Amino acid sequence: MTVRTLNGGVIAAYRDRLSIPPDVEAIHINEGNTPLVHLPAVSDRKRNIDVYAKCEGLNPTGSFKDRGMTVALSIASHNGSKAVICASTGNTSASAAAYAARAGIQAFVVIPAGKISVGKLAQAMMHGAKVVQIGGNFDDAMDIVKRMPEEAEVTLVNSVNPFRLQGQKTAAFEVVDQLGCAPDYHFLPVGNAGNISAYWMGYVEYGDAGIVGAKPRMVGCQAARAAPFLVGAPIEEPETIATAIRIGNPQSWNLANTAVIESNGWFRSSDDEKILTAQKLLAERCGVFCEPASAVSIAGFCDEIEKGNIQDNSVVVCTLTGHGLKDPEIAISQSPEPITIPKGGEGLRDLILSSLD
Ligand SMILES: *Cc1c(COP(=O)(O)O)cnc(C)c1O
Repeated sequence: MTVRTLNGGVIAAYRDRLSIPPDVEAIHINEGNTPLVHLPAVSDRKRNIDVYAKCEGLNPTGSFKDRGMTVALSIASHNGSKAVICASTGNTSASAAAYAARAGIQAFVVIPAGKISVGKLAQAMMHGAKVVQIGGNFDDAMDIVKRMPEEAEVTLVNSVNPFRLQGQKTAAFEVVDQLGCAPDYHFLPVGNAGNISAYWMGYVEYGDAGIVGAKPRMVGCQAARAAPFLVGAPIEEPETIATAIRIGNPQSWNLANTAVIESNGWFRSSDDEKILTAQKLLAERCGVFCEPASAVSIAGFCDEIEKGNIQDNSVVVCTLTGHGLKDPEIAISQSPEPITIPKGGEGLRDLILSSLD
């Protein structure tokens, strides 16, 4: 029986544009084809600036990492690999665990102890990954896992694995396919810097194929105390509540720098308070719940439009990299406590009437 699906994953959708052997069988969970949502509360009608969110939290494991992981695990499986390994601030481990489960391959994930959100940890555990924690940060974990393929038969699936970027570039294809053109600006959270590099690769390839004319200016958004691209060098002790981008030594440094320079874009940073304000704005006024690391793209946009750095009559896309449910603790800690009333319901009517005044 053939099951017809609207979305067979990013390999099925864009196979002819991916640098992969033609006979690779796709290990997929119907990732990709995520919505591009207009954000009226962030757009500026007077200046005709339209802002859209590419909602990558709607991928199967709740982040964009799935686009890269379907390709990395398909290749690993094709090559007969029995195990994969990654360092992770959370979402890579969740995604690697799920796609490895699908492929029947063991996943090993190395994470900074106490620095990944509970939702992500739950996913890695539930999908059967071996979870290993270290006292150091993501950069320390990255140094460890990079050595492992020489010491044991294991495939590295961090974004230094070029197949990850092959999969992730499909997000840029989708944005163009959805908008009918490239945006004028593309704001992206930057941690290990694979994703901004992958998007630029996608835009350039669509440009070379004649599918888009002008390409967007790429704006790489970092958290203020985890902003090596703003410093111009790796930093030792990155710190931010946006744990997914708590990275001081990005592995795709040169690719990301090239993306920003070639696109005539720039890097910028926002402090944690502005990141949380942007997360709240999206949730309360747009109905979109993303994790803090994703909100850095909105925080960045709001700041740049205020400074006059966005031209009138522009189309802007901000990538929301991961779902808000990944990190419920941050959300709850920012919100007022629930109101308790007696079980008979006394007081509820007054509460409603007084808030509608
Ligand atoms: C991985 C991740 C990032 C950073 O992406 P890089 O490719 O490492 O720059 C940003 N936001 C979320 C939610 C992530 O999971």
